[in-house]
Amino acid sequence: MPDGWSRPLDAGQLADRRTDIEFSIPLCELPRLARELVQDDGSARGTASFVREQGLAIVDLVVEARPRLICQRCMRPMSWPVASRTRVAIVGDAPHADRVAPEFETVIAPGGRITVGELVEEELLLGLPIVPLHADEKACGVAVDDEPDEETQKPFAGLAELLKRSP
Ligand SMILES: [Zn+2]
Repeated sequence: MPDGWSRPLDAGQLADRRTDIEFSIPLCELPRLARELVQDDGSARGTASFVREQGLAIVDLVVEARPRLICQRCMRPMSWPVASRTRVAIVGDAPHADRVAPEFETVIAPGGRITVGELVEEELLLGLPIVPLHADEKACGVAVDDEPDEETQKPFAGLAELLKRSP
């Protein structure tokens, strides 16, 4: 199902059918998240499993991603690996949200319709640090090269472009 993550889905129906949706979403296609990133490469991968519990449509959301942010100490890119598992209750309006058990996160979706992309974006945004910093000060100022699996990066390609344009 290509781009299934971007289609509005009826959460209740999927829950009744116990549907699993696997996704791989380019981070650049999640607009609110993309604003926070240094580079818009990479994707969020995982599974959204819909189930019915306590009369509610629940999404068991497993997501992994490696967004890149700017370290606020050295102003260089850093990876921020996210691997999370969340249980989200999809409800149609605020009064229903008040009745959701505390073990679930709650998403209010008018008509019970949501896209998997919205759920994933929300989850990733919640996982981002308010002030990104390399965990170890020694890592500051060092180019991000600890990810052998990732494609070659050109963190300064944009900078070179900018310099070229300077008078
Ligand atoms: Zn740093």
